[in-house]
Amino acid sequence: MSTPTKTISYIVIASIILILCAQAYLVYDYFQTVRLALIRESDTILKEAFRADLNQRNNTYLLSTVNDENENMDLTDDIDVIDFNLSEGSEDEESILNKLDIVMHAYISTFIPINLQKIDSITNQILHERNIASEFVIQLIATEDQTVIASSRELSKSSFFLIPSQPYPLDFENKEALKLILINPFSEIIKRMGLMLLGSIIFSIIALLAFRILFLTLSKQKKLVRFKNEFLSNIAHELKRPVASLTVNLDGLQDPDIFSNTGMRDMMLHNSLNALTEMNGTISMLVGLAREEEGLLVLNKQPVNLVHIIMDLKNRFVSSPVKRVSIHTDFESETIIVQGDSIMLTQCFANLIDNAIKYSDRDAIVNISIRMNKSNVILAFKDQGIGIPADKIEHLFEKYSRVDNHSKVSGFGIGLNYVKTIIEKHGGSISVSSELHVGSTFEVLLPYK
Ligand code: ADP
Repeated sequence: MSTPTKTISYIVIASIILILCAQAYLVYDYFQTVRLALIRESDTILKEAFRADLNQRNNTYLLSTVNDENENMDLTDDIDVIDFNLSEGSEDEESILNKLDIVMHAYISTFIPINLQKIDSITNQILHERNIASEFVIQLIATEDQTVIASSRELSKSSFFLIPSQPYPLDFENKEALKLILINPFSEIIKRMGLMLLGSIIFSIIALLAFRILFLTLSKQKKLVRFKNEFLSNIAHELKRPVASLTVNLDGLQDPDIFSNTGMRDMMLHNSLNALTEMNGTISMLVGLAREEEGLLVLNKQPVNLVHIIMDLKNRFVSSPVKRVSIHTDFESETIIVQGDSIMLTQCFANLIDNAIKYSDRDAIVNISIRMNKSNVILAFKDQGIGIPADKIEHLFEKYSRVDNHSKVSGFGIGLNYVKTIIEKHGGSISVSSELHVGSTFEVLLPYK
């Protein structure tokens, strides 16, 4: 990986971690807010439940003593005696009510003691009214050491997440207090955090997806750069071959002995010409494909005799310096004329013959036939070469497609794409049939007109 790409990757990874951490912090912070809100609500619920129970106990007490004037007088007297210090204005209404509750409780408890089960059932009702779905327990605790004196129900082992209310004092000496504990109130917390959680999850997913796309683009970019380099080095290699041949042959022709030898001179001139043609072919293929991509490729159509083109190519390829090449031709007629771009069609057929020779392990034997039917001319280029694996045929005509079973053969995978592009531009088509280690046949169909 190149250094800028590496740096970008590190920055992206660091950003992902930061975003996820920020999300986790936000969720945690919101969770704490919800937890505190639940604690405050528990305080209120416990107070409500205690007061409701106190009222019930007071009513029961009053009913039981309805005929006993003295007892009632006593209660009123007792309450009158308490100094609430209202005049000083140091305590708010709520705290005065709390004090009243404590006095009432102290008095009534001597007749009807507090019953945790009753407070439990009242709490249950209040929770229900407030739509809070959670297990809970009411505890009577010793304020000093927070030990549980009594409990409305047992705390099971699975009660690991508890939200306790503030202790609610039952006496002025602060000896005993009531406590409401919500047990595992997950559904309530999720309900309250729902929108925030959903938003956070969606945001995290979007951020992860965006980073994934960024990574994919980066690695695609990296592949493209590698591919471009490979492609350029392949083209350079393809062009070097004819240049080297040209250099050797022109160099040889400078030698007066070779130059005066007619046979040698003709051969070297022929080789030089072939090298130039090959170079020209590669360049015009690259230019042609680039033009086609831009939509600028125009055919220079005129009547072309396919037999002539093939015979010229035969003469060019049989004198291969690398392999012994035999090219057999079989034409239905001496003159087979189609409307086409002579230069481009020649380049196409040259590619097919060149491939037939290149991809033959042994000395190359190529059969070229031209047949005709009512509306088309069918050219077949048959070799006895290495063949093409069946699974590669589907993508064979795609740009830069190469089969990896011939690493020694140079090429850059645009020849067949060029052939297909040009033939189709002529209104024709190309197909291939092949058998591994037996050979391949490329069939080109061209319309007459
Ligand atoms: P290049 O020859 O530069 O690789 P082409 O587009 O001409 O590019 O060919 C694409 C691939 O098709 C070649 O790499 C080769 O694997 C396969 N191929 C083409 N013609 C033949 C053939 N006659 N025999 C076997 N394989 C072939």
